[in-house]
Amino acid sequence: MFSQAQALLPDLIRIRRHLHQWPELSFQEYETSAFVSKTLHDLGIPHETEVARTGVVGILGHGDGPTLALRADMDALPIQEENDVPYRSRREGVMHACGHDAHTTMLLGAAMLLKQVEDQLPGRVKLIFQPAEEIIGGDGYSGAKLMVEEGVIEDVDAIIGLHVDPTLPVGSIGVRPGPMMAAADRIVIDILGKKAHGAYAYLGADAIVMAAQVIMAAQTIISRRIPAVQEGVITFGEIHGGVRDNIISDRVTLTGTVRSYDPHIRDQLERELEEVVSIVERLGGGYQYRYMRGNPAVINDGQLAGFVARIGKQLLGAEQVREAAKTMGAEDFAWYMRHTRGNFVRIGVRAPQWPEVRPLHTPTFDIDERALAVGAALFAQCAVRWLQEYEPERWPGEPSILED
Ligand SMILES: [Zn+2]
Ligand SMILES: [Zn+2]
Repeated sequence: MFSQAQALLPDLIRIRRHLHQWPELSFQEYETSAFVSKTLHDLGIPHETEVARTGVVGILGHGDGPTLALRADMDALPIQEENDVPYRSRREGVMHACGHDAHTTMLLGAAMLLKQVEDQLPGRVKLIFQPAEEIIGGDGYSGAKLMVEEGVIEDVDAIIGLHVDPTLPVGSIGVRPGPMMAAADRIVIDILGKKAHGAYAYLGADAIVMAAQVIMAAQTIISRRIPAVQEGVITFGEIHGGVRDNIISDRVTLTGTVRSYDPHIRDQLERELEEVVSIVERLGGGYQYRYMRGNPAVINDGQLAGFVARIGKQLLGAEQVREAAKTMGAEDFAWYMRHTRGNFVRIGVRAPQWPEVRPLHTPTFDIDERALAVGAALFAQCAVRWLQEYEPERWPGEPSILED
């Protein structure tokens, strides 16, 4: 399968460069969807468009037998690209800085490979081209959550997703059974005080001083209120307040992100943050506290992770399958995993000649495009083998086989 994928590499590079030049923001992937739809049409793969607003879902194989879903996300970020390459983004201030152009290309590559063996597939492969991984809209929906809500994975027995990883060398993949990425929630805190002249502060209630207390106290939740062996992060990414140097501010808004793995710790962080915020009431102020739950944690199915590792070793060689890091990053792929067993795998994209890692979400992010064949082959080979090996009584059941 890998040699077939490598033969497709010039096509895959062309596709990726096209998508890279025309990035679209979350839930605005109109041209990207149309491109995906046209490619599937030309391959003779039936598909639905406008799934989860701007997504596309294709289907390969036969109606009976199990169904495996493969998922790629399609959206870009509001970042101005700084790479001086012929395929740099042609849209001002929008860039595929998270590699979703590569994911979309890898899934299209897998579709090309699977189409060639469609007659032999003992089941179905669902191709999920998902919009809006990067944001949670005002209505609380990201692309994956909406896909799930629209029933896309109701008939799915397992799902595999992937993400490019700039820390792993091209040609390698990263696999991890169990917890891999954190639950991510958003907080918006309004601290309410009373205006006064800056020289007569005792006549007001200073929202800026109260905000400072809240920020410092909140940091002690992680260090002193949750067990040291549990993961948690509280980050205030924005602080807004005040109008002038000599006016006591009556309002400060703090927004931030809260990360965790354990559901009990998640509940505790939500509760204890509000307790910390409520200290402003003893300082003469008031508050509004909003805690908005985002993506759940990505917890890989151990058996499926072992399966993906085994396929990866067969395709790429044993030394190319690494243990992926557990991080406090988040990924809306987790929504699928709440409804079916899933595995999220990392695809190395670091070119050997790059002296430094080019991190995701930065203006100089880029990939070694040879990884496109790795992702396409891994997707396709996992689909073929999983459908061949699937036995309901064996899945679920076996422990992780990452070491085999
Ligand atoms: Zn991203
Ligand atoms: Zn991403």
